[in-house]
Amino acid sequence: MNLLRRLSELQEEHGYLAEETLRELARADNVPLHRLHELVSFYPHFRTSPPPILDVAVCRDVSCWLNGASDACRRLREQHTSSSDTVVREVSCLGRCDGAPAIAVNHAPHEAPTPPQSWRCDPYATPGERYGLLGELLRDGRDAAAARVLAALKESGLRGMGGAAFPTAIKWELVRAQNSDPKYVICNADESEPGTFKDRALLDGAPHLVLEGMLLAGLVTGADSGILFIRHEYEPERRRFARALDEARQSGLVGANVAGSGFTFDVEIFVSPGGYILGEETALLECLEDRRGEPRNKPPFPGTHGLFGRPTVINNVETLALIPGIVRRGPAWWKAQGKPGFAGLKLIALSGHVERPGVYEVPVGTTVRELIDLGGGVSGGRALKAFAPGGASSNWMPAALADTPLDFQALAKAGSMLGSGAVIVVAEGTDMLALAANGVRFFRNESCGKCVPCRLGSQKAVELLEQVCAGKAPRTELQVLPDLGETMAQTSICGLGQVALNPVLSVMKHWPEEVTK
Ligand code: SF4
Repeated sequence: MNLLRRLSELQEEHGYLAEETLRELARADNVPLHRLHELVSFYPHFRTSPPPILDVAVCRDVSCWLNGASDACRRLREQHTSSSDTVVREVSCLGRCDGAPAIAVNHAPHEAPTPPQSWRCDPYATPGERYGLLGELLRDGRDAAAARVLAALKESGLRGMGGAAFPTAIKWELVRAQNSDPKYVICNADESEPGTFKDRALLDGAPHLVLEGMLLAGLVTGADSGILFIRHEYEPERRRFARALDEARQSGLVGANVAGSGFTFDVEIFVSPGGYILGEETALLECLEDRRGEPRNKPPFPGTHGLFGRPTVINNVETLALIPGIVRRGPAWWKAQGKPGFAGLKLIALSGHVERPGVYEVPVGTTVRELIDLGGGVSGGRALKAFAPGGASSNWMPAALADTPLDFQALAKAGSMLGSGAVIVVAEGTDMLALAANGVRFFRNESCGKCVPCRLGSQKAVELLEQVCAGKAPRTELQVLPDLGETMAQTSICGLGQVALNPVLSVMKHWPEEVTK
């Protein structure tokens, strides 16, 4: 953690990492120079040449692509052709798909401030009530408090909201059962999948809930330290969380002897040096251990062998933010929030061709069509053609399936997934093959390169799609893609390689006429 922190600090100080800067750091910290090069060459946030005076980054990924990112980028380049001090570049998803096309100028998001939003999952009526739950729980002693939280979690059936949907209580119990110290709690705030920005809204609007969820995780598992791992594009949200952390520390609810109970739990913030792959939990751990963010083989899982080989709970922002409400109001309240036959609430990021993109908190079981209606319908009054229910990696689905409920099982049964909770809307008139090529290109760009099938397979698929889209290869050549996708799914060690061809395979399945014509 220290080397990557030092590299980020030096880049902040000098604007970039010159060879001489790296040599000085290697000497001062007594690390081989190649260790620094291996980090600097892996993480996209680091630069080894001076930055331009004006650095304009335009997101090229799906929600922005649907909203004219390519044209915006071209216009910006035309405007700045005469200036050698300005660079306009296309980048991977900036996590601001609600402001598509998303643009960052000198790394600061360029967007209108969004109005504050209140969440049903936030159990606190007033700021003064915040963090009250922890003090109240600890009055009965740590063991009783941990038992109460765990019982509520089990009864609620809460699952991880980062995409894997693993039962949270089982994850916490596994770490609690380990006879090993220290233990860690990590909040994964590295959401980077195109279309996904719900965690950003929570960090901005309810950072105290995220922090309290981390404290409860520490209480139950026996961990005494937590880390918020946040993407570097979320600097405004990092500041919001840091403020909430300071407030909690001043109130005696973070640090040594929390609320006078003898329970110690402190939290630090780690800013990611970039890359979608760090959202994968073992890649994230590698990064925190000062290595290249390449996923580990599993098992063992982080619950037993996590950060520095110690038991570690890794939860997504939304999962942690939901827990205080469930404990305070009870699992029965939580279950009753869902539509009939479903349990709970879900935050969904809505983007693409929709009138009012944003983050919507809906009862689980709400249909995709109802959500799009909440967002004002398809933009420009057009007809719905397609949607992705769970971000860029979820299979594209046709409008005829828009009555599918937003629920892990219902969407899996319909042939896609709820994933990270990101519905991307596509209007009639959109070129589905070009859309698919955009998605596969993202995964090719973000492959860490560790396994050959993912590294070469995604490259092969992108080359083929680009040739077909440009009319330089017949569409019949796309027929190799199902076999290639199957090979990648079977042989890649992490989810990225396993789903990289989903965008095109689902388009081939549902819109065969567009692929073969
Ligand atoms: Fe890296 Fe792709 Fe292998 Fe995942 S599947 S470890 S992203 S090369």
